Amino acid sequence: MTETEKLNFLKALNKAGIEFSYADPHQGCFSISPVGALECVKDPLAYRARIWRVTVEALTEYDQWVANGCPCNATTEEGRQCRNTVDYYSTSPHNFVPGVTDRCRVHRSEKRQ
Ligand SMILES: [Zn+2]
Repeated sequence: MTETEKLNFLKALNKAGIEFSYADPHQGCFSISPVGALECVKDPLAYRARIWRVTVEALTEYDQWVANGCPCNATTEEGRQCRNTVDYYSTSPHNFVPGVTDRCRVHRSEKRQ
């Protein structure tokens, strides 16, 4: 089946009343078009990156940070990683900036080094 045939099939399903939705682990569930559904099937990570308007690399880095429990990545005065838990809900892939948003309240108020 060609890409055009796949898209036409998804469009036919959509026209018949079948809707597509996408469940993002950070954004919840939302409706997507047949074009979006096809794009998601072809490359789910690239699709998510496009939704969040970030690069695949940035999204991967964010996902790894979340998978590690959203630790503060600042270095303490003793030279160790802080590892206080950062408020997960204050950070999304869209506004995740390593060195800035992956900091706990104590280290967020410090100047970036
Ligand atoms: Zn910290």
